[in-house]
Amino acid sequence: MDYKEHIAIVEDWPKEGVQFKDITPLMDNGPAFKAAVDEIVEYAKDKEIDIVVGPEARGFIVGCPVSYALEIGFAPVRKEGKLPRETIKVDYGLEYGKDVLTIHKDAIKQGQRVLIVDDLLATGGTIEATIDLVEQLGGEVAGCAFLIELTYLDGRSKLDGHDVLTLMQY
Ligand code: 5GP
Repeated sequence: MDYKEHIAIVEDWPKEGVQFKDITPLMDNGPAFKAAVDEIVEYAKDKEIDIVVGPEARGFIVGCPVSYALEIGFAPVRKEGKLPRETIKVDYGLEYGKDVLTIHKDAIKQGQRVLIVDDLLATGGTIEATIDLVEQLGGEVAGCAFLIELTYLDGRSKLDGHDVLTLMQY
């Protein structure tokens, strides 16, 4: 499947000099979106995953159908102030600034095997922060899956020792 034909490249968004990869045409296309989700499910299926974790907001879009197919739960990672119960947090740097990510304290149990899913790996700041949250809760990151990897930003260097799947590379 050539997923790239379903990715729209938007120049200078959200700011000048950034070439944004828009995944909404892929989401619009039923067979292409299903094929992408199925590929992540296939990757995860022998890893004995207990729970899928995805950072907001596009990590929800890709991660939830994966958790549904694997018949396991999904735990959201969100910006500060968005989750209603007790959370832990981590500061992180992202491609366009700095922010805080949080997860519910009881989202992951000690020793659970976690698959982290997001739409895109850029600098790796988001995934690094998400791994930090999972590990703070005693989870074990068994895999990380993305639709897109921006290889020129070298986010993979932050994922040393982790099992990583990316479906498209730019
Ligand atoms: P990183 O933290 O790896 O620098 O950036 C990845 C995060 O930013 C992901 O959660 C992703 O949703 C978002 N992101 C950064 N650049 C893009 C882009 O070009 N397209 C999309 N769809 N998301 C992006």
